[in-house]
Amino acid sequence: MHVAMIGTGYVGLVSGACFSEFGHDVVCVDKDADRIAKLKDGKIPIYEPGLEALVERNVRADRLHFTTDLKDAVPKADAVFIAVGTPSRRGDGEADLTYVFDAAREIAGALDGYTVVVTKSTVPVGTGRKVKEEIEKASGGASFDIASNPEFLREGAAIEDFMRPDRVVCGVENERAREVMREIYRPLFLNETPVVFATLETSELIKYAANGFLATKISFINQMADLCEAVGADIQQLAKGIGLDGRIGSKFLHPGPGFGGSCFPKDTRALVSTARKSGVPQHIIEAVVQINEDRRARMVEKIVAACDGDVNGKTLAVLGLTFKPNTDDMRESPSVGILPALLEMGANIHAYDPEGMDEAAKNEALDGLLYCHSAYDTMKGADALVIITEWNQFRALDLDRVKKLMKQPVMIDLRNIYKPEWMAEAGFRYVSVGRTTVP
Ligand code: NAD
Repeated sequence: MHVAMIGTGYVGLVSGACFSEFGHDVVCVDKDADRIAKLKDGKIPIYEPGLEALVERNVRADRLHFTTDLKDAVPKADAVFIAVGTPSRRGDGEADLTYVFDAAREIAGALDGYTVVVTKSTVPVGTGRKVKEEIEKASGGASFDIASNPEFLREGAAIEDFMRPDRVVCGVENERAREVMREIYRPLFLNETPVVFATLETSELIKYAANGFLATKISFINQMADLCEAVGADIQQLAKGIGLDGRIGSKFLHPGPGFGGSCFPKDTRALVSTARKSGVPQHIIEAVVQINEDRRARMVEKIVAACDGDVNGKTLAVLGLTFKPNTDDMRESPSVGILPALLEMGANIHAYDPEGMDEAAKNEALDGLLYCHSAYDTMKGADALVIITEWNQFRALDLDRVKKLMKQPVMIDLRNIYKPEWMAEAGFRYVSVGRTTVP
């Protein structure tokens, strides 16, 4: 099959590379000339484990190509995937569909022969149908079908998620489009990956419902963590105690500073907006959004309290800036909600992140951070150490060394990656989430 992938971000580049790994001929298109130049040069513009080797292998096999010229890619394609960004619109939280419709119009002008145009971007219910109208208007009678194929990959594990997904969801309107989608995903069919065929609208809504549900688990466990702190219970034991119930499941029950990244915050907001507009408000998701927004301030309070109620003039060593490990993505990261408030209160912040510092440095809200070369570099003379992202390399710090470097041994672990008993034994004042503070 010939595939054109419009947008080479976290989703487009991974999906394009994986489709080429399936054996399809893939052309990835991006408007960003810099990004395409880098890709042509063998450089990967984002950090995603395993992606460089995957791209290199498929470029060498002549199955994966990059261009800025959409007209080069679309006419030959059996399927054109739209994988451009759908960020939150300022003010109302709705998904901004400018990039999607711009791409649709450009595609319309380049279609040649029967093509399936697939929205892989996360788009509110009804968008596929509007894309179809837009293309009908702009193409003057091209032969095409529309499909919806939301993506569920997680940054940091994107290739594994794409190659071995829990399921693939395809929204189609007829058998012809279904056949094209089936052919594209044939290697996964052979692996017996469940493929859910649905209507366009259902497929679009499945993506929001999935993210809404996962975000609900996170806000739920975060509120339970607060309750544990108030009554002297332990959230880790609680999560285990409920998670072993197969109906609940143990995943996504990790308390912390709240969800972030480029999907959950914007998708929950967009779901709230769609639901309100449809006259069916989703009260659970509304609460989930609110709880998550309040979470950042609660984490700030926790850090300040651990610093005896005042961070003015104090030095905080901060480990981890990205919204989760194994990515360089800083979009809506908890660090962006927490650190500016601490800077405002007069804290000096010495930060380190293995992959996120270049992106962090572009974010004005974080101006004033001092970026360090290693985890231990942040700790020299620090009054407290704050773990915001649970990168593996932060899980086994040499606690004696940490203690020697710091002015005083205080750790605020917003990811619960240490055990209170060990930390007490190592001589630390240790504050975590949903567990008793020690000593
Ligand atoms: P991104 O911002 O990383 O990448 C989007 C890319 O599209 C950019 O490189 C941009 O230059 C390019 N682009 C925009 N308009 C274009 C056009 N007309 N022609 C060519 N290129 C164009 O976005 P992303 O994180 O990959 O997300 C893409 C979509 O996938 C979003 O709807 C998102 O919600 C969804 N999604 C993301 C993830 C994730 O983990 N990032 C997971 C599942 C779904």
